[in-house]
Amino acid sequence: MRPPYLLLDIDGVLIPFPDAEGSTPATHARHDVVPTGRSADNPVTVWLNPDHGRLLMDVIRTGLVTPVWCTSWRQDATTLIGPLLRLPDLPYVDLPRPQITTSHPNGYLWKRDHVDAWLDDAPAVWIDDDFTGLDHEWAVERTVKGTATLLIQPDPHLGLQPEHLTEVTRWVAQLHTARAA
Ligand SMILES: [Mg+2]
Repeated sequence: MRPPYLLLDIDGVLIPFPDAEGSTPATHARHDVVPTGRSADNPVTVWLNPDHGRLLMDVIRTGLVTPVWCTSWRQDATTLIGPLLRLPDLPYVDLPRPQITTSHPNGYLWKRDHVDAWLDDAPAVWIDDDFTGLDHEWAVERTVKGTATLLIQPDPHLGLQPEHLTEVTRWVAQLHTARAA
């Protein structure tokens, strides 16, 4: 029995968006990172909550999910962001780089077609701040067809909250029990 994937976004989930005053939550610590393709004298400032690493590890250690980065940070999620949260090397979905000016070029999240093909018929819980109604419909349709799919959508200005991971744990535990029955 395959555990469901836990697809993890970063921007708006682990790195909250600044509010109107340019502030980020006091829970988050500043780091400067150098993404692939940038020079060392041109780092990017990110804000991360160290508690997120611990909370994610609590979920990962249950063994009930297969965690995978699903973010435009791509491999940098594994090499740059994960280590700052003391996470082990997690695999990442190698998303395409479409020339788009909106994250919803067809009315739904630009990642979704690629994720849909990548998942095939695997169950998944997907945390991203940027789903539209069409993405939620997609998740319901997948579930109705027998592929359990849960979307969790944090407020991008607040990012991931402990209750989101409680929801993940509860959902995967129920799924595990239902399949074992
Ligand atoms: Mg995002």
